[in-house]
This record gives sequence, C-alpha cells and structure tokens, in this order.
Amino acid sequence: MWYDQVLDRLDKVRRRGEESWIACCPVHDDKNPSMTVSVKDRKLLMYCFACGAKGDSVVESIGLNASALFEDSKEFDADPHYLLKKTQEDDDFLIAIYQSAKRSGERIKYKDHKAYMEAMARRHNRTEAGIAQTIIPETQQEFL
Ligand SMILES: [Zn+2]
Repeated sequence: MWYDQVLDRLDKVRRRGEESWIACCPVHDDKNPSMTVSVKDRKLLMYCFACGAKGDSVVESIGLNASALFEDSKEFDADPHYLLKKTQEDDDFLIAIYQSAKRSGERIKYKDHKAYMEAMARRHNRTEAGIAQTIIPETQQEFL
C-alpha cells in the first residue's frame, strides 16, 4: 500500500482494524505504543497520546516528508521545503531559548538538548536551501 513506507519505519506496529494501527511514536522516546495510525480520505492520520505529535512531525522524524501522508501528494510536491518553512518560527524561538538558558548556566534536559540539535540541523538545511530565517544574535536575547 502507499502508506507502507511509513509503517515500515515505525516500531511495534500492531493492527487494530482494517486501516488502523498502534505503534511506538518516533518523536519521543516511546517504549510502549502510544501513537494511533489510521487512514481516512486517502490520508494517513497519526497522533501520539503521550507527546501530542502528529503526522507531519512523525514522518519528519523517520526521514520522510509530509507528502508521505497523502495517497495523492501533488499539493506537496510543489514545495520540497514545505516542512522546513513550517517549522522555521518554532525552531528560531527554541534555539534562542536554549542558547539563553545555556548562557545563564541552567541545567539542560536531554530532551531539550535533542530538540535543539534537531532545530539546528533544520536551520542548517534552511541555509543550504536559501530559506529566510531569523537568527537572533546571542547579545540580543535578553528579552527571553
Ligand atoms: Zn510521542
């Protein structure tokens, strides 16, 4: 099926119905399946009850892009940088907060560090793709 490329990359996939499954969420460190997966209107719907992750962040964390969620993905083929643009504002904010916390000597949790590294990787990809982003200099982060 068209959605097998997604299911194949998820862990502990268990079938619940004809086009309905549960699986481990790849966005957070999931040991027991917390995520529901189902097909509706030729679209793959995913939702993690533990961390709230939805389809777009799920496919991104398994190395696919949002077009993998659609049987007919024409609308996403038009813009290969769709996800990079969509996550840009959140990433810029997260990076600024992380750097501010680090500078003031706060203890940083592993999951926050991981999120920061992922945001930095996307920032790098945006730079490569020439996508505009807000890089707040560390000296101007006092407001955070
Ligand atoms: Zn999750």
